[in-house]
This record gives sequence, C-alpha cells and structure tokens, in this order.
Amino acid sequence: MKYTIASNVESPVNILIPDIMASPFRIAPERQNELRSLIEQRNITVEIKSNEVTFLLESNSVDSKIYLSLPTLERLWAYSFSYLHIMTLFLATGPGQYLEFGKHYGPIVEDMKRLLLWALDEERLRKRDYAWPKHLPNPASKSYYPQIIEKTNEMYLGMMGWILLHEIAHINLNHVLHKFTDLPTRLNYEKAADKWATDWVFEKLPVCAQPDNVRVWRTIVVSLALSTIAAVEYHTIEEQSSDHPNPADRLLAFLTNYVGETGDAQMPLHEISWIIPMVVIQTHFANRNVPETLKGPYAGISDYLIEARKVF
Ligand SMILES: [Zn+2]
Repeated sequence: MKYTIASNVESPVNILIPDIMASPFRIAPERQNELRSLIEQRNITVEIKSNEVTFLLESNSVDSKIYLSLPTLERLWAYSFSYLHIMTLFLATGPGQYLEFGKHYGPIVEDMKRLLLWALDEERLRKRDYAWPKHLPNPASKSYYPQIIEKTNEMYLGMMGWILLHEIAHINLNHVLHKFTDLPTRLNYEKAADKWATDWVFEKLPVCAQPDNVRVWRTIVVSLALSTIAAVEYHTIEEQSSDHPNPADRLLAFLTNYVGETGDAQMPLHEISWIIPMVVIQTHFANRNVPETLKGPYAGISDYLIEARKVF
C-alpha cells in the first residue's frame, strides 16, 4: 500500500514499515491480486503521523485514507512482544496457576515487564518526551535473542495485517462518521468491518498439505489484534465515550464464529486463540486489582469473556 510519513522521526519500527504496508497482502496471500485491485480501485493510501501520541488507528472513506501514528505502531510492537511472552509463561506454568508479576521469571520476562509498562505509561500519559527505552528489545535489535525478535515481528505483522484489513473494510463499505451518526450505526460499522476483515482472511483459505497450521496461525493473529485492542481500550476507558463496541463482544463474535470451543478439559491445539484474550485481559485486570468476580471457575473461556464484558 502507498503511504506517507509526515516527518522523519527516528524509530525502531521504521525498518518494519514496508512490511507493515505489505501485511494485509501477506496474511491472506491467496487474495493478493484481489486486494491489490480493490486498493487501486478505491485509491486507498496510508498516512503515518509521527507525533500523534494518542492511539491512532482510523480511516476515512471520504478521502480513502488510513491514519496511523508512529507511537501507535511502536506500542503495538511492545504489546506483541509482551503478550507473546506472557502466553509462553502461561503455557509453561499450566492452567490454574497464578502468574505473579512481581516474581522473577528470568531476564527476558524482566525486559518484557519493563517494555509493557513503558508502552502502557505512554498510552495513558500521552507523553512523547521519552523514546524507546534503551537496552530493551525492539524490532531492530541486533544484540537481542534473534529468534525472539523474529517471532515477535512475525506475530506483529500478522496482527497488523488484520488491523489494516479492518480499516480497508471501513473504506470499502463506505462508512462515514459524522457528528450525527448515531450509536447503533457506529456499532454496526465496527461489527461489519470486523466481519469483513475476518471473512477476507478465512473465506478463501487454500486447501494445502497442512491447512490446519495456516488456519491456526491466522486465528492466533486475529485474536492477538482484538485482545490488544481490548487492553488498550481498558487502559484508556475513562476518556472514551460509550461509542465503542465492547471489546469482549468483538472477541466473542470472532472466536465463536471462526474458532469454536469444545469445552474439553484438554483443549485442542486449534483452540489456542481462545487463550490469548484470557491471558491478556486477566494480566491487565490483575494489574489494576479488578475485579474479584473474575476468578471463576468457568466452564470455558467464553464464560470468562462473558463475565469480562461487564468490566469494559
Ligand atoms: Zn473500526
């Protein structure tokens, strides 16, 4: 996709920008040509603002533009890195264990905590007077464990692919927001854009040697995108008007319709995308000491998300 950057600001995510622009094509390579003609037809372009600290991720169907900001792209990377590690910790510890954020789990987890706190501080305080913390992992890190950076970049780009498809959907579906747009219409726009982007990713999934692996990977990155949005909204909830769809509803709609939950005690591998929102949401809830009621037990993760929706 064609893009512009307002000014040249140094950022570790700069090296990923060409890949971010390619990410909606790569998440569903079987539809590359289709997407290319749609983007050309609508003349969709991306504008990356450099100094906008507010979480900026929106589109305008009137000028066919998607708006992003460099700080938003940086923080999304930090979240991908952190959630990947919280997931790894969770899977290693096993269900029923309480992950203590204060406990020392090793140097990578310590870095993860610092990176997550930096991103959340920036999210909440809207400061742009401090750059990416030195010595912490970033997408351009040469000295950090290369496999970890590579894995994070891969997950991050998958997530960005779906996020950009969601914005492309708003443009393609001619969604126009103005001050007279009522709440039900706004909520329907979001629902429709989520569905359009997700259908794009799954509708023409190729029949190949291991179709399950491709499918599972795509469910993981969509789940990561929606879980990250849920976390950001949770931390900025005080300043939002109620015109946002409930993030738990968005997750439930996706996971119920595209993944499904068997409810077996031994969760099948293809349901792994259910664990992501639970781990991400619970980490943020626990971090703010809310709410006692979410301790369960629950028959399935969908029950947990139904409870969690009351908090958003
Ligand atoms: Zn949207």
